[in-house]
Amino acid sequence: MIKFADSESSFDDANFVIYGYPFEGTACFRKGTALAPDKIREESYNFETYLLELGIDLCDLSIHDQGNLLIKDNQIENETLLEDSVRKIINKDGKKFPIGIGGEHSMTPPIVRAIKEKHSDLSVVIIDAHLDFRKEYEGNSRSHATTTYQLVEMLGKDNVYPIGIRSASKEEIQRAEQIGFDFRRNIDSINGPVYLSLDMDAIDPAYAPAVGTPEPFGLTPLEVIKMIDKLSSIMVGFDCVETCPPLDNGNTSSLAARIV
Ligand code: MN
Ligand code: MN
Repeated sequence: MIKFADSESSFDDANFVIYGYPFEGTACFRKGTALAPDKIREESYNFETYLLELGIDLCDLSIHDQGNLLIKDNQIENETLLEDSVRKIINKDGKKFPIGIGGEHSMTPPIVRAIKEKHSDLSVVIIDAHLDFRKEYEGNSRSHATTTYQLVEMLGKDNVYPIGIRSASKEEIQRAEQIGFDFRRNIDSINGPVYLSLDMDAIDPAYAPAVGTPEPFGLTPLEVIKMIDKLSSIMVGFDCVETCPPLDNGNTSSLAARIV
């Protein structure tokens, strides 16, 4: 198994625990996100362990890579496994920060369900091109197109903050308006614990072309890194989803690795 670069710690010693969720069962347009966890790990070896912009050396941190969850065809079973796995990470000693590498965006709700047990005042920030506010897609209420809707149902409309949205159906907008969900709020007001989910398609296809559903007019990688820095002191978990290696010349998975 290939491990993420510099993830040399044991699970018990680690402050950061990386895991892969190679699931793409509900992907609707381009397939291939299941290959992303390992591809992103591969690309992680390109970078210096010293992060110049932060003055931090990854060798000085305690990072463990659990590998990939054993995915089956049954999405509900996979999500139960994922939720239990995240629960184990965050409850082990109270100091472990979970980092999930997808896979598709359907992974975020089960992760948040586990984290919310520990942080009842949890907010979620979702950086995404898409509103992901369908009730169901292709008959599936757990589709990657329903992620934000599921999170609003779970946490309440005032605790979910989408960023970078530039694509939604008319029906999704109407649903948001009906329940009074403001998806253009500022994240400056968040001060409690926050979970951050990064759908790579939030970033402009010029920088991140290899995603399941690319969408023009996006964020720059620098803008995303600044948001991460801004939230870092209150962040309690992170995932990076929707990279699609079969379409990649290396740019997108390399960028994902650097962001992770
Ligand atoms: Mn998404
Ligand atoms: Mn998206």
